[in-house]
Amino acid sequence: MTTIGFIGLGNMGAPMSANLVKAGHRVIGFDLSRAHLDAAAGQGVATAATAADAVREADAVVTMLPAGKPVLSVWGDALKHVRPGALMIDSSTIDVESARQAHALAREAGMPSLDAPVSGGVGGATAGTLTFMCGGSPEAFAKAKPLLEIMGKKVVHCGEAGAGQAAKICNNMILGISMIGVSEAFVLAEKLGLSPQALFDVASTSSGQCWSLTTYCPVPGPVPTSPANNGYAPGFAAALMLKDLRLSQDAAGLAGAATPLGAHAAKIYEAFEAAGFGAKDFSGVIEFLRAGLK
Ligand code: NAD
Repeated sequence: MTTIGFIGLGNMGAPMSANLVKAGHRVIGFDLSRAHLDAAAGQGVATAATAADAVREADAVVTMLPAGKPVLSVWGDALKHVRPGALMIDSSTIDVESARQAHALAREAGMPSLDAPVSGGVGGATAGTLTFMCGGSPEAFAKAKPLLEIMGKKVVHCGEAGAGQAAKICNNMILGISMIGVSEAFVLAEKLGLSPQALFDVASTSSGQCWSLTTYCPVPGPVPTSPANNGYAPGFAAALMLKDLRLSQDAAGLAGAATPLGAHAAKIYEAFEAAGFGAKDFSGVIEFLRAGLK
């Protein structure tokens, strides 16, 4: 049995920590939200009054937080209280620069560390089928893998510090762009008198085939499990897609990479959120495009 300090028990952290408990580990959790702490306690997570208390006896620490700032502040605090050699894992989606700073803090304190963001959403977190994309030393990765395999079904070592976050934002930039592309095609098809099902039947077996079309189709009907069939309830909220697109654009700016479609996709999701749809699934952007707003 491993003792794990788990900080950030929100939509993702709650089911992820519950899966660690189910696998027989001792999980000590902390969250700023009392309601989230109480919900985690109901899933067998021992709760702590502070982040320091959550990590004091931990062999490994997992953070699942909204952004780079809280990750750096929690790691800064936790690293003063963890046992020597404890493994630090951050599974939040944050900017590559902050991820590298978090690794540097761990290195200074002599602790192995990994950035290990996930894809798969709340459904994947609950089912224990997340994909983890990891950055850090091969030794830290080898140590973390058995724990990550409890919460996910695919665990990939992408490279050194920050490589996991780089993989995550590159993947989600593809996703944001492709969802807009697929949505535009359905809007054009409607105007041309082509049925959504006909476009789906052709494009899903042609060169337009992609995940945004075949797994997450933005019109109701062709893929019954997609959020389009459920009033665009998330799923993956547009506000989170915007967050990831902004991270990709910050990274592109710093690295000097040209990503004009990524930049345009970020603008479209910015307008979608500003119009009040940030809590809708990101595939709901089709309704926005249909209305001619971009
Ligand atoms: P969430 O807002 O539901 O949970 C974040 C939790 O962190 C909250 O409970 C909040 O109270 C807590 N928190 C914030 N600052 C804290 C601090 N300083 N100390 C302790 N607790 C603190 O968010 P989520 O949906 O669980 O997402 C978490 C991370 O996972 C984000 O980085 C997000 O981008 C990423 N992610 C989310 C999804 C998804 O579908 N929800 C999918 C992949 C990745």
